[in-house]
Amino acid sequence: MDDTALDLWKAFVAAPSPSGFEQPVARLYRNYVEPFAHKVTTDVLGNVSAVINPEASLRFMYAGHMDEVGFIVHHIDEAGFLFFSTIGGTDVATEIGQRVWVYGAERVLGVIGRKAIQTFQSSDMMQTPTLKDLWIDIGASSREDAERRVRIGSPVTIEAEFALLGGRLAVGRAFDNKVGLLIGAELVRRLAKDNRLHPDVGFHVLGTVQEEIGSRGAKTAGFNIAPHLALAIDMGVAMDYHVRGQRIRARSISAEGRVYPKVQLPIRSFSTCSCENCD
Ligand SMILES: [Zn+2]
Repeated sequence: MDDTALDLWKAFVAAPSPSGFEQPVARLYRNYVEPFAHKVTTDVLGNVSAVINPEASLRFMYAGHMDEVGFIVHHIDEAGFLFFSTIGGTDVATEIGQRVWVYGAERVLGVIGRKAIQTFQSSDMMQTPTLKDLWIDIGASSREDAERRVRIGSPVTIEAEFALLGGRLAVGRAFDNKVGLLIGAELVRRLAKDNRLHPDVGFHVLGTVQEEIGSRGAKTAGFNIAPHLALAIDMGVAMDYHVRGQRIRARSISAEGRVYPKVQLPIRSFSTCSCENCD
């Protein structure tokens, strides 16, 4: 990965984009592709489309979703603690004790709290906490104090910035799916350079919205563009870890660590087959 792509990836990760609140990342994507794409549009739902050869009759669509899993404040109590719901699916066990950003009038630091272990009943030790057992403390002294900075409906993300892990890997928030979006942005930049794409092929590269709550953006964009062929890049699940001495590995992951997802190729002429029944 060159420095331009790495800087863009870091910027994508730093920008918050829980489903329905994708504007900061959408702005970054637009600004990046505008010098290279022949046409850039944003639809009513918020999907950003960068197109090379927009007039071509053969349409190829690439989609990487811009949104990420997050939370949303749904109640502020008398003491100024924030109670929250999830945007998309999360594992509650990974949220306890995390620092978070709450996006109110300005970005506010908070921490997710749970009752102290010293106060546990024996039943507490056996139960997995639910979201109702957690709250966000932003250091407010009262509801009125909290409402000066955040409000019901404020989106929230985990505070987990981009960092290199062991020099070769990276760790950070929302790699699902800022990586897919990065690949799309780089496709636009590299294909536009030197006019590498055949003029009869229209390439529609989308940053889509609301994937984490039902792939809503990609569905809308698909109807709008009506592509002949479409490709979406998203994350696979990490399965190369150990649980009590057992190495867990998905059947779709090869010994070399490659992921082989399910693929649909509805247009026969785009596929190749070596079996004797096909010519
Ligand atoms: Zn995803």
